Amino acid sequence: MGRKLLLEHINVPGINTFKVYREKGGYRSVEKALKTMSTDEVVEEVKKSGLRGRGGAGFPTGMKWSFLAKPEGVARYLVCNADESEPGTFKDRYLMTHIPHALIEGMITSSYALGAHTSYIYVRGEMMPQIRILEKAIAEAKEAGFLGKNILGTGYDLELYVQPGAGAYICGEETALLESLEGKRGNPRIKPPFPAIAGLYGCPTVVNNVETIAAVVPIINDGGEEYAKIGIGRSTGTKLISASGNINKPGVYEIEMGITVEDFIYSDEYCGGIANGKRLKAVVAGGSSVPILPANLILNLANGEKRLMSYESLSEGGFITGTMLGSGGFIAFDEDQSVVRNTWNFARFYAHESCGQCSPCREGTGWMEKVLHSIVNGTGRPSDMDLLVNVAKQIEGNTICPLGDAAAWPVASAIRHFRDEFQWYVDNPELSQKQNYGLAHYADPLPVLETIEN
Ligand code: SF4
Repeated sequence: MGRKLLLEHINVPGINTFKVYREKGGYRSVEKALKTMSTDEVVEEVKKSGLRGRGGAGFPTGMKWSFLAKPEGVARYLVCNADESEPGTFKDRYLMTHIPHALIEGMITSSYALGAHTSYIYVRGEMMPQIRILEKAIAEAKEAGFLGKNILGTGYDLELYVQPGAGAYICGEETALLESLEGKRGNPRIKPPFPAIAGLYGCPTVVNNVETIAAVVPIINDGGEEYAKIGIGRSTGTKLISASGNINKPGVYEIEMGITVEDFIYSDEYCGGIANGKRLKAVVAGGSSVPILPANLILNLANGEKRLMSYESLSEGGFITGTMLGSGGFIAFDEDQSVVRNTWNFARFYAHESCGQCSPCREGTGWMEKVLHSIVNGTGRPSDMDLLVNVAKQIEGNTICPLGDAAAWPVASAIRHFRDEFQWYVDNPELSQKQNYGLAHYADPLPVLETIEN
């Protein structure tokens, strides 16, 4: 069994309450940090831990914290990005639902480290139950003296607020989130300046994901070096993975970084194998924004070694034979699934969620959705695959925020690895409308290197 740092007490009855959470050792990191450590020492421990942002980008958290500007007399803010809405990703919601105090504790310790006296948890608007759960947890923590004025008699003050979003995926982008938090339309800002210099209300701000902030708790409790002993390479600690698709046991799993992808999919501790005795066809490893990989490439590296669940191993091979850990939204497709239809589904999502500020994203996501729609509806043309690759290339790297890339990568990778299947839809228009899959009848797993054409 892998070590559990965030979900260790997930099955303890009442762990969502302050009383039980505290009985299980909760809020020790707040006591330790506020009573025995300077703010710089807390930042240093997080740096030593090697913790990387768990929202998708994987940027080193301690380094991000150390970029925070500290001008005299200017407020600083910590904002928790709880706007989770990437298709396939539901780990933050799970954490907030079942162990809300892990996030509240992490927010207090992290806010102290950053010198913030007002902090926000920006929660996706649709998550009303989680918003209520967090508000209750905040009230409990405040009543126990862990929030408000003079916390634990240390002289440190902190007010923590929950802010519901209004249901736009783009508000998960940190600068769009800050715009929304300020009461404006959630359009991403052009960077620089970065939030660490000019964030919320123009003040220095750190925006961190739910899981990232919760991970600060075990780091402060046990020390950054202990945390860094778990994992592999620059992928330290544990990671929450939301697993879905055609697996026997969908759910949220805490893994030690560095287990093999094969273990994650097939062991009973995690996904329990592919459902109904089917074969694995493809995987989207890190939420809908990352490149899709066929079974043989997600399980193995080009040199024949097993691919690991880590930032480095998943991205090995670049976007030709690799993908990304992303937000940890792991979607498995069995042999009956249509990559073409699923790609269209993702494209629909991004076309709908584009904020429209920049032309490549606004127009490109719309065109990709239209072209994919025509392919799945039996009116695709032989030139459509090249057209899609071309549009994806025009979007990639040419937009204000990463949503453009996020829309382009799934399409480009699906065509790179499953071009035959797209071709089948174009060649068999009548059949493709009747069946829910394209070349799902592959006799064997796709021959890896022969499918890489682009
Ligand atoms: Fe908006 Fe898309 Fe441009 Fe991001 S990339 S700012 S979502 S139009």
